[in-house]
Amino acid sequence: MNRLLEEKGGRVLAFGAHPDDLEVGAGGLLARLAAEGAKVTMAVVSIPNNTDQRKAEAIAGADVIDADLFILYEDKPCRVEDIPMHELVRRFDTIVGDTRPDLVITHSAHDLHWDHGLVNRATVSALRRTPCDLLAFLSSPEMNAQSRSIGQCFADISRTMDKKIEAISAHRSQCPRLDLESSRDLARAMGRISGYEYAEAYEVLRVRI
Ligand SMILES: [Zn+2]
Repeated sequence: MNRLLEEKGGRVLAFGAHPDDLEVGAGGLLARLAAEGAKVTMAVVSIPNNTDQRKAEAIAGADVIDADLFILYEDKPCRVEDIPMHELVRRFDTIVGDTRPDLVITHSAHDLHWDHGLVNRATVSALRRTPCDLLAFLSSPEMNAQSRSIGQCFADISRTMDKKIEAISAHRSQCPRLDLESSRDLARAMGRISGYEYAEAYEVLRVRI
């Protein structure tokens, strides 16, 4: 990833199962990479309910991060588990082929949400022939608190912490559930561990040095 950052202009592809997952789990790093010149694409798999509103919120969130947004199934409500795995992998293959990412960010296999685990599985399969770096995130402060697997890599998000909160806030329909203070507290705690003011923790699944 260092090389990517140094080159200013790498391509970053992030997979999220639902609108708001990427903002909560990786919004700080995505906003930082975009600000540093990377072309960032956010690929959201499904909208479980309330399609029009949540689509508008996803667009607003990606806008704050300054990323392109791609929603795989945007016309009607669906769950990731309703999509056959082979079809999901085929769709991911196409996105990977189109974006040719240097870095991919996806859900952790240790995520407790079933749909998130499926997205992890499909991402790993879709990258079978693509040389790129791969990081995984946990999608909520609660999940981070329960998992011991995360924390091999810390991204300094001190300069984009406010953007992350703003991007999460774009998901108004989810706002009582999305506890902004918890997100800030977690980033502060991860920052304590890693020596930054605010940080996001990632699992390193593949990295080229
Ligand atoms: Zn989700």
